Amino acid sequence: PEASTADIGVYGLGVMGANLARNLARNGYTTAVFNRTQARTEKLISEHGGEATFVPSSTLEDFVASLRAPRVAIIMVQAGPATDAVMEQLAALMDEGDIIVDCGNSLFADTIRREKWAAERGLHFVGAGVSGGEEGALWGPSIMPGGTRASYERLGPMFEAISATYDGVPCCTYIGANGAGHFVKMVHNGIEYADMQVIAEAYTLLREGLGAAPAQIADIFAAWNEGELNSYLIEITAEVLRQVDASTGVPLVDLIVDAASQKGTGKWTVQTALDLAVPVTAIGEATFARGASCEPAQRAAGQKLAGNATPLVIETDEARAAFVEDVRRALFASKIVAYSQGFDEIGAGAAEYGWDIDKGALARIWRAGCIIRAAFLDDITRAYEADPALPLLLAAEPFATRFQECTPALRRIVSQAALAGVPIPVFASSLAYFDQIRAARLPAALIQGQRDFFGSHTYRRVDREGIFHTLWAEPG
Ligand code: NAP
Repeated sequence: PEASTADIGVYGLGVMGANLARNLARNGYTTAVFNRTQARTEKLISEHGGEATFVPSSTLEDFVASLRAPRVAIIMVQAGPATDAVMEQLAALMDEGDIIVDCGNSLFADTIRREKWAAERGLHFVGAGVSGGEEGALWGPSIMPGGTRASYERLGPMFEAISATYDGVPCCTYIGANGAGHFVKMVHNGIEYADMQVIAEAYTLLREGLGAAPAQIADIFAAWNEGELNSYLIEITAEVLRQVDASTGVPLVDLIVDAASQKGTGKWTVQTALDLAVPVTAIGEATFARGASCEPAQRAAGQKLAGNATPLVIETDEARAAFVEDVRRALFASKIVAYSQGFDEIGAGAAEYGWDIDKGALARIWRAGCIIRAAFLDDITRAYEADPALPLLLAAEPFATRFQECTPALRRIVSQAALAGVPIPVFASSLAYFDQIRAARLPAALIQGQRDFFGSHTYRRVDREGIFHTLWAEPG
């Protein structure tokens, strides 16, 4: 290999790594590439070596030697032990000031640990969230790098060049120290779970309520994509619903097993939210819904139970049109709840871990490249630009007004679904969350009374300062 000419290197040439390397090289960066199994490196070079300048290596020593100082090496391997192993191998060959970048879906707590480990060795460790799947990695992902600000000076321009753009603005910005980038990527994925689930709930309501075929519902989603719901996920939903299985002629969605799997980032978002005591009910319900879908024995047992419900039947054209609009508004309201809660978690994480996260800038880099990309994120950016310390996104304009306009529809839909026995956990919990957050007084007062009764946990009073304990009357 040529000596120290590469601008950047990629270790791990699986689906994501190979595409990221091609994206870097296409953007004019001389890109060193290495993979544990050499055949993958050879495949990349034989298939795409002519596209741009790659520097392939067959040994890790040569790979590191091919990088210009301060070296930047991206790790794109499985999260967990593989990432630790590769980081340690690289660190052993790198010099002070070099930068190791983990672009995998690592847990932010691992990134905090790795950054500390690397810093003790004089190395920069950057945990960078990368969203957009395979196509994103190749043509422009949304990139969320953490680590030191100093590392961003060397790395940032390259990442900004390969990221997606929205109105000419790159979908990459420095997020914050150590694990901040992976933290926001985690929440991004959690929001993605909620966004997908609310779309699925809208679909099930339309299917039950209208008795419509998938292709007809595809048309509804396609129409919605022209309005405020405009987003990648709504767009692909229409495509998925339109797909017909070639061998049977049946809508493909009806042939797909209804068990939604997961790789863990939604679960991490919920676990972390519990640690931070932030209610991310929409993400939680969406994650639980996936879990419930994957329990065949429980579902078989449950199917024996009578719902005592009256199926939704909406007959007149006028009623059907009103129902479709109600579902659309319920979806939009629930989506606002999901994002508002996700940004709450980011705020709580930033406070807990000492990150200075610019939420407006974060929403800006999610406008393109990533799975939750949507016109909607522009409004989130504006809301945080107007007030970076917003306590509740849901209560900020334009969301507050839109949410108020959608709540009558959300109430109708949640009640109709309850009577008809249609499961819509995120719609229902979003309404409950809204009513809880706007309540002047909560039954938490009674909980405090119960806690003081059985555990002398004390309580505060509305009319006096201080901490109180009551000598409660003994039961019966
Ligand atoms: P992949 O196609 O399965 O490739 C995995 C890569 O990791 C291979 O190059 C493999 O090398 C390497 N590897 C695994 N264990 C290793 C070890 N102990 N030492 C050295 N190399 C090892 O995976 P992928 O889809 O590209 O995903 C890579 C990362 O990106 C994951 O963290 C994933 O969560 C994240 N990510 C994926 C997506 C997506 O849409 N796929 C999106 C965002 C983020 P060998 O060839 O030698 O086996």
